[in-house]
Amino acid sequence: MMNVVLFGPPGAGKGTQSEILAEKYHFSHVSTGDLLRAEIAEQTEIGIQAKSYIDNGNLVPDEVVFSILDKKISERYLSSGIIFDGFPRTADQAAFLAKMLANKGTKISMMLMLKVDDDELVKRMQERAKLLNRSDDKSIHVIQNRINVYRSNAGPISEFYKGKHKYVEIDGHGSITEVFHRLSLAIDNYKESS
Ligand code: AMP
Repeated sequence: MMNVVLFGPPGAGKGTQSEILAEKYHFSHVSTGDLLRAEIAEQTEIGIQAKSYIDNGNLVPDEVVFSILDKKISERYLSSGIIFDGFPRTADQAAFLAKMLANKGTKISMMLMLKVDDDELVKRMQERAKLLNRSDDKSIHVIQNRINVYRSNAGPISEFYKGKHKYVEIDGHGSITEVFHRLSLAIDNYKESS
């Protein structure tokens, strides 16, 4: 059983890749972005709190994200292994996740870091805006802010996992199938060596 963090900038393909990796390896898929969007759609208290942060491309406060995450991580999820998509996003969140999983008798196996250039990210998010109705893909300013927020947190969170020898970098350019193949290889290598 393994738990994987899929990390990378907005538009890197974390959601798409998490879904197909979850299918291949029978992971439970946990996307904090999807969970937050569902809360917004249902107009819950959490959704109301989260909406303006998401619409402006900022991170939702930790206590909001932690509360929905804690609800979601059930026994069933723990027994299948989890692929975390969009969480953790900061070193503080990574430390929280490590503690939460330790309390439940498990841990993160590896962090897969998808590397994609800014130009490509902007292109992909603008394409996605045409297909899905995501409020935060519609404005170039919000897209740029999300990339900036990402860049300011990427260093510290990468160091967190590098320090634990759990950091693996993956080239996120190319087709969905090419990137999927690279990610699968990294997971298979981990499985073989553990
Ligand atoms: P995503 O679907 O992962 O691109 O997330 C969309 C938006 O949801 C982000 O831009 C944040 O506003 C919010 N969000 C998702 N995950 C987190 C997280 N781990 N911490 C804080 N905000 C988050």
